[in-house]
Amino acid sequence: MSSSADGDDCDVVVVGAGFGGLYAIHRLRQIGLSVVGFEAAPSVGGVWWHNRYPGARVDVDSLDYCYYFSPKLFADWQWTERYASQDELLRYLNHVADDFGIRRQIRFGSRVTSAQWLPHRQRYHVTTEQGDSVACRFLVMTTGNLSVRRSPDFPGLNDFTGEWVQTSHWPEHEVDLRDRRVAVIGTGSSGIQAVPVIAEEARELYVFQRTPNYSAPARNGPLDVEAWRRIRKDVPGARAELMRRPVGTRVRRAERRAGEYSPAERSAAIEARWNFGGQGLNLVFSDQGTNQTANDYVADFVRERIRATVKEPRVAELLCPKDHPIGSRRLCLDTNYYETYTRDNVTLIDMRAEPIERITSSGIQTADRHYDVDLIVFALGFHAFTGALNSAGIRNARGAAPTDRWQRGPRTYLGLMSAGFPNLFSVTGPGSPSVLANMALGNEHHVDFIADCITYMLEEGYSTVEPTREAEDQWTEHVADCASSLIRLRVKNYMVHVNDDDQSRVFIPYSGGFDRYVRHCDEAKERNFAGFQFI
Ligand code: FAD
Ligand code: NAP
Repeated sequence: MSSSADGDDCDVVVVGAGFGGLYAIHRLRQIGLSVVGFEAAPSVGGVWWHNRYPGARVDVDSLDYCYYFSPKLFADWQWTERYASQDELLRYLNHVADDFGIRRQIRFGSRVTSAQWLPHRQRYHVTTEQGDSVACRFLVMTTGNLSVRRSPDFPGLNDFTGEWVQTSHWPEHEVDLRDRRVAVIGTGSSGIQAVPVIAEEARELYVFQRTPNYSAPARNGPLDVEAWRRIRKDVPGARAELMRRPVGTRVRRAERRAGEYSPAERSAAIEARWNFGGQGLNLVFSDQGTNQTANDYVADFVRERIRATVKEPRVAELLCPKDHPIGSRRLCLDTNYYETYTRDNVTLIDMRAEPIERITSSGIQTADRHYDVDLIVFALGFHAFTGALNSAGIRNARGAAPTDRWQRGPRTYLGLMSAGFPNLFSVTGPGSPSVLANMALGNEHHVDFIADCITYMLEEGYSTVEPTREAEDQWTEHVADCASSLIRLRVKNYMVHVNDDDQSRVFIPYSGGFDRYVRHCDEAKERNFAGFQFI
């Protein structure tokens, strides 16, 4: 690395030190580039550093959700459970950072706040809140889709004399739950994982639910060590196989449409997936995501399970999702979530019927009553997809931000780059399979693509790369086409961009399948990075 008027000079700046950032630093260094990493948090881990709430764990199998680039790493690390806990994932990522000597490359506690493309130098000038200044040829954003939290803005929060925390930004110190009166606000994947664990310790737990979600049992347990040993024998082969899977995991794909089963077979097929646990409930029938009737079979089954578990009919009905199809928001995975509502110390509050009016000095005032609490846990989710990209202050030579042209939904080529932004790569972002697939693998795949692209540029003597406007238009159209028949397009949630004027919808991630996406990338690569223009 050298110094210049714009600060230190390096080949690449990588922003973020989660699954994506760690591998990007390692891989790009491997091809001979000088790399500087910036991470706003004090250490590595990304999502698994920030989301250390009780019950936090992965919702795809540990044997899928890990790095596959190094057979030695795979062999060295034996997971303990089917779904790794946040704590184990954080230890794993620390192990990776140490084992591959990645940590020394990263400036921690450094939040990137501006990245200006300087056309005369063909470099980004990157600065941080803490005063770092670095010029780089390539800027790789591994800033995560779920890394900018949605903060609570309930009136009166400043008056609250108790403690409040956020699942997405859980403090490093221990948060005492024992014998306290606790409120959890938000029942997405995070809230649903946290509630059963908090209920075990709290004196009283009040769960504030706005929209009920479908949740399937995770069926966590000890790791299938035999499976791990089998994979260990041929990690590259296993990796290649995962790349051929529609969601980048070993979850068995749906074989038949719902209509091809007899009623008895249909019930058995749903029950088998339910009993096996995990995200497979999304894949009982091949037409579950596009055919309302097929979807209803699975959704009805879950509602029946909720009613069978939660004996109090009023509470059971409140927990039953009725306004959206199953799988139209991310399917939650839980351990004893519905069972928790049979406990005497747990109360469910329907925020639609009983909205929160304000937080008071001693608790939560709803339209109906006051709840005295000592601790409030907000599980409100994220400014998904664009939050981190926007807050990094990226500007091209014309002073435009990458998302300026995304007013009617994201516009990318392969979800990796946008026209008009030379040498800016975004990892697992909009227009890629992203949150619809195994994101550990998705990160690895994207970083490899970027490394190959830069290698090609170095070999051919190119300085800049960006997609053609035509390639970006075609890809954006293809992303929309893939999603056009999905019933989930009708449901408002963080994966759907809704245009204010005509309420038209754009599905943000690529829903054509991880395997198909990988093929698109391979084809572009084989044709000398077709769709990209190099100077
Ligand atoms: P992240 O892990 O989000 O890391 C991004 C990092 O960038 C963060 O550390 C952040 O501090 C840093 N950063 C952001 N902006 C800046 C900036 N301007 N300057 C400096 N640093 C910055 N996916 C799955 O496939 N399976 C799962 O089971 C799963 N479980 C999840 C559970 C939770 C609680 C959450 C929130 C997400 C989960 N995800 C899951 C999705 C998750 O986002 C990915 O799996 C993966 O961890 C993302 O890795 P990443 O490196 O892309 O981003
Ligand atoms: P989320 O799914 O967006 O859920 C946020 C919750 O907060 C929703 O219940 C939402 O209600 C509620 N909420 C938001 N603002 C509110 C307000 N002002 N008033 C009342 N309620 C409000 O966020 P998340 O649970 O953090 O999960 C986000 C994503 O992270 C998941 O989809 C998944 O991809 C990932 N994740 C995975 C796991 C895992 O199991 N491994 C765990 C956690 C997260 P509405 O639904 O009504 O908006």
